[in-house]
Amino acid sequence: MTARDVGLPERHPRAGLPARVMIWEVGARDGLQNESAVVPVEVKAEFLDRLAAAGLRVLEATSFGHPRWVPQLADATELLGLLTPREGVRYPVLVPNERGLDRALAAGVTEVAIVASATESFARRNLNRDFDAQFAMFSPVLCRAKASGLGVRGYVSMCFGDPWEGAVPVDQVLDVGCRLLEAGCDQLCLGDTIGVATPGHVVEVLDGFLRAGIGIDALAVHFHDTYGQALSNTFAALCAGVTCVDASAGGLGGCPYAESATGNLATEDLVWMLDGLGIEHGVDLDALVRASVWMADQLGRPSPSRVVQALSG
Ligand code: MG
Repeated sequence: MTARDVGLPERHPRAGLPARVMIWEVGARDGLQNESAVVPVEVKAEFLDRLAAAGLRVLEATSFGHPRWVPQLADATELLGLLTPREGVRYPVLVPNERGLDRALAAGVTEVAIVASATESFARRNLNRDFDAQFAMFSPVLCRAKASGLGVRGYVSMCFGDPWEGAVPVDQVLDVGCRLLEAGCDQLCLGDTIGVATPGHVVEVLDGFLRAGIGIDALAVHFHDTYGQALSNTFAALCAGVTCVDASAGGLGGCPYAESATGNLATEDLVWMLDGLGIEHGVDLDALVRASVWMADQLGRPSPSRVVQALSG
C-alpha cells in the first residue's frame, strides 16, 4: 500500500473538542506575500477559485498595503475584480492604514483585517510606529470600517516571542488584544509570527484572554511551523475551545528553500488532523491537495506540506 492509498486518516474523536472548525485560509495573502516570485493575477484568481471549490469558506485574498512594500500583492484591486462570487464564501483583505481602507472600500470588500504588534520592536519595524502610536493609526481605520458595515479582524503579531525582544509577557499580549477589541475588532487572531510557541504557552495566553472576560469565539490562532510545533499548538488551541484556525494551502509562504521562510501551517496538514479528530471543516482534502499541487507547479517548486507530499507522491 502506498501513502496515496491511505487517503484519509482513521477517525478517533475526542470529547471536549469543538464539533466544527472554521479554517481561515491565508495562502493567497500571507503565503504569496512571503514568496519571492510575483504570481500573475490570473493565477491568483484561479488559485482562490480552486480553494473555494475545495470547500474553504474564508479566503484572505490580498493586502492593500503600499505596492512599494508589498509588490507581490500590488494587483489587489484587479484580483478582487476577477474573483467569482460564491455563496457563503468570504474574501477578507488586509488594510494597513486609511489609504488601504479607501482602496479596499472602492473595491467593494465586506471584511478587512488590520495587523497590530504585541511588541514595541515589531511595531517600529513593521508599522513604523511606537507601541502606543499603533492604536492611533488603527483607530480611524476601525471607526470607518465599522461605519461602512465591514467585519474587522485584528491580527496581533509576535504574541509568543519576538526576534528582537525575546520573551513577550502574556499581559502585554492581553493589553494589545483587549485594546483592539475595544476599538472595534470583531475577532482577534493571535499570531506566532516567528513560530516559537509551544502548546503550554498557547494555553497560557488563551487562558489569559478568558480570564480577562474575552469569549473564546472572539479568538483565532495563526501558527508557524518553524520549529515543527504548529499542529501541536493548534491541538492545544482546539482543546481550549478555539474554533477558528489560520492555515496556508500547501504551506505557501513557508518555502523551505528561501531565507524568508516563515513556515505557515499547511492547510492540508491541518485538515488531516481535523479529519482524524472527527472535527467538521467542510473541505475536500483531495481537491485541496490538487489546488496546492497546481499552485506549486505555477511556482516551480514542490509544496513543503507533508500531507501534500504524502498524498501526491
Ligand atoms: Mg503567517
